[in-house]
Amino acid sequence: MVMIFDNVQKIKQKIREVCLKTGRNPEDVTIVAVTKTVPVERIIEVVNAGIYDIGENKVQELLEKRKSIDNVRWHFVGHLQTNKVKYIVDFVHLIHSVDSFKLALEIEKRARRINRVVDVLIEVNTSGERTKYGVKPEETLNLVRQISENCEYVWVKGLMTVAAYLPNPEDVRPMFRTLRELRDEISKFNFRNVEMRHLSMGMSNDYEVAVEEGATIVRIGTAIFGPRK
Ligand SMILES: *Cc1c(COP(=O)(O)O)cnc(C)c1O
Repeated sequence: MVMIFDNVQKIKQKIREVCLKTGRNPEDVTIVAVTKTVPVERIIEVVNAGIYDIGENKVQELLEKRKSIDNVRWHFVGHLQTNKVKYIVDFVHLIHSVDSFKLALEIEKRARRINRVVDVLIEVNTSGERTKYGVKPEETLNLVRQISENCEYVWVKGLMTVAAYLPNPEDVRPMFRTLRELRDEISKFNFRNVEMRHLSMGMSNDYEVAVEEGATIVRIGTAIFGPRK
């Protein structure tokens, strides 16, 4: 029996401790509960524990669950195919995984039709692993610029990364640092419709290090719900 409420309290406490240590405000860190493979009853438990930001990585699964869960903000954290954009564009709170201009243009087209601004993050591959999605760090500025110059309905709110899975979370720190430095660099430009506010980084294994390095959003699955089947 996984104690979801207790797990959430533990995570919140750890985040508070890290913030205290690093002079950050804990309110500047949002926990997104990543609920892939987790059934609706358990997601409702996490909502009852005070988490209103829910992340899914598959469009179909998200749409199914959304029918049964109200009053939460839905985050899309997985790889997004252009042909699926239309299914989420009217309600999604934040798309974490924009990694091509083509995808941004599809979001733009769909968002324009319904006159809704869609907030996105740019996914950056900070680990260099070929299995990971995301733009290369050195391509990030260019993608942000392209979106800013060509889109009116896609607003860039920051960056996201899925770091390498390493047993020692200390080893992941350089990847989080890369993301933060990129954000700081891009912030110096005054791009239209770009506000480099968010760093979505840190998962169950490494969220404390991520918060130390400036994460404003941590995406947590296993540490809340237990191991996935
Ligand atoms: C599954 C997933 C997470 C959560 O991973 P845990 O290790 O279970 O916390 C975070 N981000 C993305 C993009 C994911 O797919």
